[in-house]
Amino acid sequence: MVNKITVVGAGHVGASASLLLAQRRLARSVVLIDIIEGVPQGKGLDQWESAPIEGFDARVIGTNDYADTANSDIVILTAGVARKPGMSREDLLNTNANIVKTVSGQLKATSPNAIIIVVSNPLDVMSYVCMKTTGFPRERVIGMAGVLDSARYRSFIALELGVSVADIQALVLGGHGDTMVPLASYASVSGIPLTQLLPADRIDALVQRTRKGGGEIVGLLKTGSAYYAPAAAAVQMAEAIAHDKKRILPASVWLQGEYGLKDLFLGVPCQMGSNGLEKVIEVVLTDDERAALQRSADATFETMALLS
Ligand code: NAD
Repeated sequence: MVNKITVVGAGHVGASASLLLAQRRLARSVVLIDIIEGVPQGKGLDQWESAPIEGFDARVIGTNDYADTANSDIVILTAGVARKPGMSREDLLNTNANIVKTVSGQLKATSPNAIIIVVSNPLDVMSYVCMKTTGFPRERVIGMAGVLDSARYRSFIALELGVSVADIQALVLGGHGDTMVPLASYASVSGIPLTQLLPADRIDALVQRTRKGGGEIVGLLKTGSAYYAPAAAAVQMAEAIAHDKKRILPASVWLQGEYGLKDLFLGVPCQMGSNGLEKVIEVVLTDDERAALQRSADATFETMALLS
């Protein structure tokens, strides 16, 4: 357990994440901060009032004041605007970049040693904005995308095969967008390669559904984007860090030559522990997978170039 975890943005993802953090007993205090007055205070108090029922001791508080977030060990950054139908993640670029810049400046001043898990979209570029503004080393700015995208892939495989999600391992690399790279070669069910259990066209359909997984939810909700699975994914990363679990999870990190890529955030398998990003794991890719990862990197560079 760590001392303090802050969640910035008390909207759908942020509020869901703060409740999970408290329920999982990952920190002594969980601070929910937003610019809207009353909302983080109200949600924080409501969540704290569930403590006697749920049996957690983590003190959840809501605030508009960064002084309350001081010396956070971990921060989950969800502040920003979410997608509506017809919008791509890139449509959020400059609005969210300004928000992430402001928030990152505040975090740098008040929690200089924090490990930041970025959630705001477009994810890979917002992680870059956060790292640039804070000046934190790459070990302490990690983007959440791969855990969510892999969970979607795993959930679709489980549905297709009619087996428990507990037995399914899968890996999604690349940017958090339509160019993401769900790997068929690393998907397995209790160690049995997925390619032995499903024909190529069915696997391809699952890969396509995974790529469009966020859009599928936006299309259904119409008023915003997914939040239960995204919050669970960010909290799993926070848990790996808070409990120094050394888990291998896919995440968007600042690449410095790994996979032949440099100077961008992109999703790759990482080891996560109390130092944040502890190691980037390089796996063998087929020529097609490597080309798809390069296309995803190119798309991320293009979005970075649109930053004003
Ligand atoms: P939401 O609109 O419900 O909540 C966003 C919150 O951010 C609002 O409460 C808003 O007041 C707050 N906010 C805005 N500016 C702020 C600032 N300067 N400081 C503090 N708070 C501020 O949106 P949501 O559904 O929670 O989504 C949040 C973000 O996460 C969006 O950008 C969304 O696209 C992204 N997202 C990413 C993933 C992923 O896989 N990485 C998944 C889901 C959502």
